[in-house]
Amino acid sequence: MDMLKTFEVKGKEMQLPVFFPDATRGVIRSIDSQDLKNAGTLGLIVNTYHLLSQPGPSVLKHLGGVKNFMGWDGWIISDSGGFQMFSLIQKNKSLGSITKNGVTFHLHSKGGRKKYQISPEECIQIQFDINSDIMICLDYFTPFNAKDDEIKLSVDLTIEWAKRCKVEFEKRVKARKLTEETRPKLFGVVQGAHSKPERERCAIELEKIGFDGYGLGGWVFNNEGELDLDIIEHISNVTPSNKPRYGLGVGNPQGVVDCVRLGWGIFDCVLPTRDARHKRLYVWDKNPDDIKDIFTEKNWYSYLYISREKYVRDNAPISEFCDCHACKNYSRGYLQHLFTIEDTLAFRLATIHNLRMYSMLMEKLKESF
Ligand SMILES: [Zn+2]
Repeated sequence: MDMLKTFEVKGKEMQLPVFFPDATRGVIRSIDSQDLKNAGTLGLIVNTYHLLSQPGPSVLKHLGGVKNFMGWDGWIISDSGGFQMFSLIQKNKSLGSITKNGVTFHLHSKGGRKKYQISPEECIQIQFDINSDIMICLDYFTPFNAKDDEIKLSVDLTIEWAKRCKVEFEKRVKARKLTEETRPKLFGVVQGAHSKPERERCAIELEKIGFDGYGLGGWVFNNEGELDLDIIEHISNVTPSNKPRYGLGVGNPQGVVDCVRLGWGIFDCVLPTRDARHKRLYVWDKNPDDIKDIFTEKNWYSYLYISREKYVRDNAPISEFCDCHACKNYSRGYLQHLFTIEDTLAFRLATIHNLRMYSMLMEKLKESF
């Protein structure tokens, strides 16, 4: 499957594939921008919905955007926040409502409960205040068990909102006098759940509007909870190969490898950082330098549950093939001790390690593809 290998954003070249850990609120818990850089992380994703309540778009705008705010000079993607808002409203209807005009949401922030209305236009405006490199259109998330008419509605609204996002985006680019080289990129998101014709219709209509890249939207797991590679391959086939494909929310290391094989180049996922805080660490079972073809390799990594008794007296690093700050300087025994006494250093070292595993994987994938 064809995949773009480089992608120019604001005059700099983004090498693909690339993984963006989730700095939802403008931080990856327990580590800072220098730790991220040292772990080989090239970009982060922040969430429009979460930054809306705290610190708020006007603060971010005043402080020169989220990169300046965080002291981060790598890439930034801003998610539309649609996924979070839809998930929360689906679970608890009193939190807000979804209409043809966007999402209305009640948020607790400084000064109490506040009502926010996020139309496609506002979603883009907030992302300009965040000042990200890649912005994502507000899309209509299709729930897992959606019936045919719900799927059709979600695709209809995703297309309609994408058109409105694009118009607003171009307006903002013009108002800021940005050029093709200096403007951020705008990605559309392909919805359509498990329906191949609806995914295809969505992709074709989005391409007509014209975006800089295309995202994998909605629920892409099968009944066994595994990535539905059949539908993902179908979406690869119906999206342009000269634009980056972005696997939103994908995934575990094997999931990322499978998607790269199918032509996807950009990824974000909460897993490596969340797993690190839950004492689940990723370990190379084979020296990555000895892996000839990562796409066909089996059993190349496993999970290490650091809280297990057997690691109490273990002087080995988390992973013998990892060159991260944690593996170079500390043992499994020490890391377990830090978790046991609940010292925050445990989060930091474990997170650095899991992120380095992902950045090493991206390096491996770049040379294999
Ligand atoms: Zn490590």
